[in-house]
Amino acid sequence: MKGKNEVSDEAARRRTFAVISHPDAGKSTITEALAVQAAAISSAGAVHGKGDRAGVTSDWMEMERSRGISITSSVLRFDYEGALLNLLDTPGHADFSEDTYRVLSAVDGAVMLLDSAKGLEAQTLKLFDVCKHGDVPILTFVNKWDRPGREPLELLDEIEQRIGLHAAPLNWPVGVAGDFRGLISRADGSFTKFVPQPNGKAALAVTMTSEQAAAELGDVWETAMEELTLLTEIGAELDHEAFTGGISTPVLFGAALPQFGVSALLDALKTYAPPPADRRTEAGGTRPVDAPFSGQVFKVQAGMDKAHRDSLAFIRVCSGKFERGMTLTMGSTGRGLVTKHAQTVFGRDRTTVDTAFPGDVIGLPNTHGLTVGESLFDGPSVTFPPIPAFAPEHFMVCRAKDVGRYKQFRRGIEQLDSEGAVQVLRSDIRGDQAPVLAAVGPLQFEVVAHRMEHEFNSPVVLTTIDFNECRVTDAESGAALAKMRGVEVFTRSLNGDLIALFQDKWRLRAIEREFPDLTIEQMLAAG
Ligand code: GDP
Repeated sequence: MKGKNEVSDEAARRRTFAVISHPDAGKSTITEALAVQAAAISSAGAVHGKGDRAGVTSDWMEMERSRGISITSSVLRFDYEGALLNLLDTPGHADFSEDTYRVLSAVDGAVMLLDSAKGLEAQTLKLFDVCKHGDVPILTFVNKWDRPGREPLELLDEIEQRIGLHAAPLNWPVGVAGDFRGLISRADGSFTKFVPQPNGKAALAVTMTSEQAAAELGDVWETAMEELTLLTEIGAELDHEAFTGGISTPVLFGAALPQFGVSALLDALKTYAPPPADRRTEAGGTRPVDAPFSGQVFKVQAGMDKAHRDSLAFIRVCSGKFERGMTLTMGSTGRGLVTKHAQTVFGRDRTTVDTAFPGDVIGLPNTHGLTVGESLFDGPSVTFPPIPAFAPEHFMVCRAKDVGRYKQFRRGIEQLDSEGAVQVLRSDIRGDQAPVLAAVGPLQFEVVAHRMEHEFNSPVVLTTIDFNECRVTDAESGAALAKMRGVEVFTRSLNGDLIALFQDKWRLRAIEREFPDLTIEQMLAAG
């Protein structure tokens, strides 16, 4: 059957991934470099639709800059030697929010980008935990190798010690930090010389044989050779199963700014990053990639724009072929959903999308019933496991400025809660008029305040609250905790979970020590 093969073939060439990193490690730079290099390397005459990819990238980043936040989480797509790479943006910096984590539920792999001088940093570690929990395999790119940084062996050691991943370098840098000479490919021993160019231009990559390189580089070449021998001795080879099983990580060295080592990353993505696979279902089975269409909502973006009360649900295609106009069923309600207005989510483009395959992301506008985690399907019904809630680290009490507008207030809070814009916690003590809002990043509160005023006509007052730690508990332990000083117990509106908030980590630790039998569980990715 042609249709069936078409879906498997299209799925097999897709690589849907995200870059996880700490601010300043070079995520924007490498995103642009990947797009530029993929376009440059891919066969001349390849059709890219609208203009060149680099232009799209810049638009996207320009928009982020001018708005200060990422108003549209986007996907960049580039063809690379027959593969189709879908790079999903993980909002970071000031706009770090629950969405940042959720995007990782929609990818099949991630590139962990490290700054060569800094190694593993706080935000990278948090995002890594989310990937690990979701069984997302990790490729590592050590960036900024053109600048003074740390020893390569020391960085590998840090990866192994701190996050327990066996590091398997695919290439190896020649020359000490700050005096970078080039990269050796461990697969074939070839050497690519780094020749920096003035005025921020891409460096030249000159291929040499090992004999030529040895003659030209002398001692630094010898050192690199010794290090390579050591790597072989300790068995730092890439085992594909260990990589997809989350035990090992292929490591690449390079420099995004002069675009050096970036094509090796493209190769690694094509060769090693997994294509979309059969997806686990809530019932414990799997939905095969070539089964009829299914997808899951991983993000709902409401317009920050008052004039357009638009919202866009982002759907990761899990199986089958999506064809615009098809009617899908919503897993939670069994209701039908018309997809006439399905859109692409590439950068700023909002053109209609006619077809999509597993690994792709489509946008459905103004579908107010859709919430994060919703499963959509055609044919046999399927429910995918919910996208986990992430441990909030910021808490505020929210009240209507004008108590006469309580109806609007309640409607707005419920809507924001169901979209997953923020987590809403309620308790009898505080009452429905003053729920506590919990967020992963502080920007989420700004979004709430803005939308409550402009979209729901109920301006709000947000006040800080003296809690810093958040845990899940059960009814019995919750009752005990509620009586303790420095603790308050809430019900999470969306799913009824009991959530205990603690004044600070010392109070939390003291209680855990004194009452070891109480149920006090970490939420995912606690900070
Ligand atoms: P992001 O915050 O992770 O998106 O980081 P950016 O891409 O904005 O990069 C942060 C800074 O590092 C910028 O000034 C970049 O020009 C610089 N940068 C990124 N990659 C490299 C690199 O490979 N070498 C050098 N020297 N600078 C880099």
